[in-house]
Amino acid sequence: MLITGGRLIDPARGIDAMLDVRLHGEVVTEVGEHIVARPDEEIFDATGAYVAPGFIDPHVHLREPGFPEKETIATGTLAAARGGFTAVACMPNTNPALDDPNLLAKLAAGEIGDGQPRCRLYPIAAITLGRRGESLLDYGALSRAGAVAFSDDGSTIMNARVLVDAALAARDLAAPFISHAEDEHLAAGTVMNAGPVAEALGLAGASPLCEDIIVARDLLIARQTGKSWHIAHCSTAGALELIRFARSIGTTASCEVTPHHLFFTDEAVRTLGGRAKVNPPLRSAMDARALRDAVRAGTIDCFATDHAPHTAAEKSVEIRSAAVGFSGLEIAVGAYALALPDLPLPRFVELLSTNPARLFHLPGGTLAPGSAADVTIFADEQWRVDAAHFASKGRSTPFDGMMLPRRVLATFVAGRLIQGEA
Ligand SMILES: [Zn+2]
Repeated sequence: MLITGGRLIDPARGIDAMLDVRLHGEVVTEVGEHIVARPDEEIFDATGAYVAPGFIDPHVHLREPGFPEKETIATGTLAAARGGFTAVACMPNTNPALDDPNLLAKLAAGEIGDGQPRCRLYPIAAITLGRRGESLLDYGALSRAGAVAFSDDGSTIMNARVLVDAALAARDLAAPFISHAEDEHLAAGTVMNAGPVAEALGLAGASPLCEDIIVARDLLIARQTGKSWHIAHCSTAGALELIRFARSIGTTASCEVTPHHLFFTDEAVRTLGGRAKVNPPLRSAMDARALRDAVRAGTIDCFATDHAPHTAAEKSVEIRSAAVGFSGLEIAVGAYALALPDLPLPRFVELLSTNPARLFHLPGGTLAPGSAADVTIFADEQWRVDAAHFASKGRSTPFDGMMLPRRVLATFVAGRLIQGEA
């Protein structure tokens, strides 16, 4: 397969140029100017488009095992491929939780659910048994079974003793701990961000303190234990300040931001109700601006969708009883471009590919010859989101119906074209 005529962006090698790419089998074999096609070679014409190392989403919920009515590995990974992702890392808040090496190995081997994953799939293991925040697990065994990170995402380990002991036990493993930063006592009973909108709507709000207090604690634990650390779905200006402070004293935690926290504010709850319900909640305009500034300034290491699909019935009810979270994989590339129209393309690709590959020690993240033939081809083209046609079973997103300025044209996983339209 020869990909011709595109603008190749590979930040890992400092490349931003008109270059062709040859894929053979499951690897990239050649990158160069005007590569001549072999007689029997298939050609993908990428004229007018960008060609990048495959995008990697380090934070998705695929709902299997346990909740196939919300999503399956088959539908979730197809949604990923359609959204330009050649790899995803899935969170362990399934039923049962991903706290067992045998279950993890099965998932990593594509043996859970029906149908092979449509993109690379990397499990994130729980930090505590059943994600209950109490008992430690065998992190070495989980790592050997394929865990690329550890997290009780969806819940916070409120007992600092447990988290410190877990971090010490897992300290020598490359796979980082991922914080879901939410003080469960402060956040109890809340359905959106605290502030004028919550007051006007008469809804219980969670203040940024719920997040900041755990980010601060976890950065201190990272510093104390030396464990590699990643902060999920940053949503507050305070969390960013804390991460910058931690780095200034030598604690190098990484962090991610979602498309919805970059673009929307809690004002969206007025019109969208339960469809705008997510955790952490959509914050103030000041927080969203701070997040966008932090992407530009380099404080944010990577993008992550926190793809959290639910059934239509679970999302279409009144906000107090609506399920938390929504679909993200199929709108992500366009939504990031909408939120950050002036972001240089090499930085865009770095956040979606180079950096997640580096932080979670995954194949890909570059199109250097010899690397995985995972390629995302995308273009600056307007399109309208129609969630009814998502591959994901989760068809709720606050971006539904909106025009987005960037779209995915094709996704190659291990040299195979998963989705193509041009
Ligand atoms: Zn979370």
